[in-house]
Amino acid sequence: MTELGTQGRPVDEVIADLTEKQANDVKWADGKTFGMVYDGGPSVHEVAEQAARLYLHENALNTQAFPSLAAIQREVVGWTSSLLHGELLDEGAASGFLTSGGTESILCAVLAARERGAVERGVTEPEMVLPETAHAAFHKAAHNFGLTVRTAPVREDYTADVEAMETTVNADTVLVVGSAPQYPQGVQDDIAAIAQIAMSVDANCHVDACMGGFVLPFAERLGREVEPWDFRVPGVTTISADIHKLGYAPKGVSVILHRSKASRQYQTFVFDGWLGGFYASPNMQGTRSGLPMACAWAVMQHLGIDGYVELTRQTLINADRMRAGIMAIDGVRVLGNGQFHLVAMAAEPDSGLDMFALGDALLQRGWYHDRQTPPDNLHSTVSNTNTGVIDDYLTDLDACIGEIGGTTTDDRSTTYATLE
Ligand SMILES: *Cc1c(COP(=O)(O)O)cnc(C)c1O
Repeated sequence: MTELGTQGRPVDEVIADLTEKQANDVKWADGKTFGMVYDGGPSVHEVAEQAARLYLHENALNTQAFPSLAAIQREVVGWTSSLLHGELLDEGAASGFLTSGGTESILCAVLAARERGAVERGVTEPEMVLPETAHAAFHKAAHNFGLTVRTAPVREDYTADVEAMETTVNADTVLVVGSAPQYPQGVQDDIAAIAQIAMSVDANCHVDACMGGFVLPFAERLGREVEPWDFRVPGVTTISADIHKLGYAPKGVSVILHRSKASRQYQTFVFDGWLGGFYASPNMQGTRSGLPMACAWAVMQHLGIDGYVELTRQTLINADRMRAGIMAIDGVRVLGNGQFHLVAMAAEPDSGLDMFALGDALLQRGWYHDRQTPPDNLHSTVSNTNTGVIDDYLTDLDACIGEIGGTTTDDRSTTYATLE
């Protein structure tokens, strides 16, 4: 069917068709998908679904028409800021906006850094310095906004090589980036050192906590050792934290925080010369759905700090169990020394094991991982979604390794994200 039918169809028929379309999608509800969907449990679903119904049609384009969405944004941003110690700063409280996701938060941070560099330092050929583990969204931002990326290597343990970063900054550097933790191996960069490097050239320092923003504050409350990474670190100017990941809200919501209102102003766009009226835009969107914003508000209210601490406790139990299990199985190992919820599993050198063939075998049994390289490895974002299945996973992993032996696959593709 390439054309939209002339005649409309009844609701139940349409919904039945749509349901059928989902047949080949990953079955995340069984807990066997490591990433992409984050399941906070039945009552979290319930509160999100009811909030979604209330806000399905609302538009945050103009918060004078929808003052509730202005309040929702202010409150969610405020709660996040306080979790990340954005209160009581010399500059006043940190402030920010809701965005549609981590990528948009990062786009905003890069744009703000470029603008600040241009206005305050006269930088006309802006550059940013990234460890090679920084998320691909920074490269997208550089491409969109005309910055040059200087990539620094990482160390053996996959953390940013801060000495290499230090020698890479220069008078054109407007942004220096670290992650807490980074996505590929789940290790945390030395944010204090990275922020120092940024300060040495008066550049912004962005901490990408898209993954960690709603884990590390609670891990700390659980007594885990968490190296300083948030606004308590001098020189950190912006932080991205995704509520639609381990914040357990449905997709479409992230927070971009700035250390000061003055810094925040560099990401906004205001235009007063249009016949359509005054146009002020906080992020990359025009029309903004109220749905994800309201869902985030509802999920955060429902969980509270205690709810998040409990989900984080469970998540870390799952991830620790997975890491220990992998290390106990012959032929596979964990890359880096990640302490949180991301696990990259590679073959032990000389094992002859093809990780992508292993990925295929695991998929046959319903386990879904992202694939990365080099070295070839299977990536897991572990969350509360995977509670209760880790032992089964390890049993299947062991069995699959035995099963595939030296089998290899020709498919070397590593699709984190796709076009169509
Ligand atoms: C997921 C992620 C992003 C990008 O966020 P999206 O919500 O997928 O756009 C950026 N950085 C890290 C570390 C991430 O895990």
